[in-house]
Amino acid sequence: MHNQDWITRSRAALWHPCTQMKHLEAEPPLPIARGEGPWLVDYDSRRYLDAISSWWVNLFGHAEPRINAAVIDQLGRIEHVILAGCTHGPVVELSERLAALTGLGHAFYGSDGASATEIALKMSFQYWRNVGRPEKTHFVSLANGYHGETLGALSVTDVAIFKETYAPLLRPSRQVMSPDARQALPGETDGDVARRAARDLEACLQTHAATTAALILEPLVQGAAGMAMYDPLYLTLARDLCDRYQVHLIADEIAVGFGRTGTMFACEQAGIRPDFMCLSKGLTGGYLPLSCVLTTDEVYDSFYDDATARGFLHSHSYTGNPLACRAALAVLDIFAQDDVIAVNRARAARFTDMLAPVAAHGRVRHFRRRGMIWAFDVADAAPGFAADFHRHALARGVLLRPIGASVYFMPPYVIGEAEMALLVDVTLDLLGRR
Ligand SMILES: *Cc1c(COP(=O)(O)O)cnc(C)c1O
Repeated sequence: MHNQDWITRSRAALWHPCTQMKHLEAEPPLPIARGEGPWLVDYDSRRYLDAISSWWVNLFGHAEPRINAAVIDQLGRIEHVILAGCTHGPVVELSERLAALTGLGHAFYGSDGASATEIALKMSFQYWRNVGRPEKTHFVSLANGYHGETLGALSVTDVAIFKETYAPLLRPSRQVMSPDARQALPGETDGDVARRAARDLEACLQTHAATTAALILEPLVQGAAGMAMYDPLYLTLARDLCDRYQVHLIADEIAVGFGRTGTMFACEQAGIRPDFMCLSKGLTGGYLPLSCVLTTDEVYDSFYDDATARGFLHSHSYTGNPLACRAALAVLDIFAQDDVIAVNRARAARFTDMLAPVAAHGRVRHFRRRGMIWAFDVADAAPGFAADFHRHALARGVLLRPIGASVYFMPPYVIGEAEMALLVDVTLDLLGRR
């Protein structure tokens, strides 16, 4: 079977995500036969550098031998078992290790990021109900925030293209100013923008705290907003305001967790602990669908009771899947064995140096980096820029998906010098085109 066969059959049999299927007439899907490290290989044996980590999930490359071995070993033991009324080693061990890493415990599992958002929203609401404040039913989120696309998650998401069609189905939520540092006025620092955004949050909470259960945000980097980055000060101020106004803080670390922003979790850079932390994507190194919500003893204790209805009666069939948990444990082992956070720091500095000609390019605005995420905006992007850039990059063997006029690199951590050089080369070449 060659690429063309899979393209034809895929278009006939599938409905691809986040895609107008008619566009696949002109922009066929890329049929991937296998992967090795940061590379994807198609059915005609062409190679593509996976510079977006397969939609931000992959950490250590494709077909990583240690993660492969862990999943294969688990296959010989137990592939899945119901987690209501049963338990198993991998899920217990993973929960213990996530608690040690985050200072939050009581791991509750789902399968996708969006289900983690749903779980955190429901838990926050029910906590307030359990403690006698049932009027706290609303949520606040940041302008341009993204938390997934199921109805509850979409209700706190602020990306028009995903949201507008379904608006009549959604619960209204309040959006406050994003601390996106690109909004700096002349003379303003990133910290000033953070303070300005925090004042907007405070104004909102002053009026609405009594009916607000939680603030949900993406710490440090708003991914779907086009890798909008902001000062950690905002998290410190938001934590403080949430405490003062008795509103939970939900940190959606689905995209930024597991080293992406230069620390294991983004919240660490502000020295804060959220009331809920949502994890997914890199949790299994990009191997298997798994998400997790971690929370405080205080929240957990409010559910702990003789009455069934006071418990958290939420479930997904694949909650705590053992194969996914084993992949996640292998990921945590790699972080320790390979000293990933420290090694990435050097790797990211080197790559940033290599990207200097891109940062200095005449069409580039707001070149920015946080940990292992690089982004910039293209000043004069024509309509269709993102699709064109994607297509041209693919022809040069690099998989990139700009968001609007924002180009970003979010490579697997195992990307090497030669691969980085290719990425720089292709990017400069494409910036030279009109
Ligand atoms: C990807 C993402 C989600 C949703 O995760 P899915 O697995 O796609 O449902 C939620 N929040 C953030 C910040 C994300 O980047």
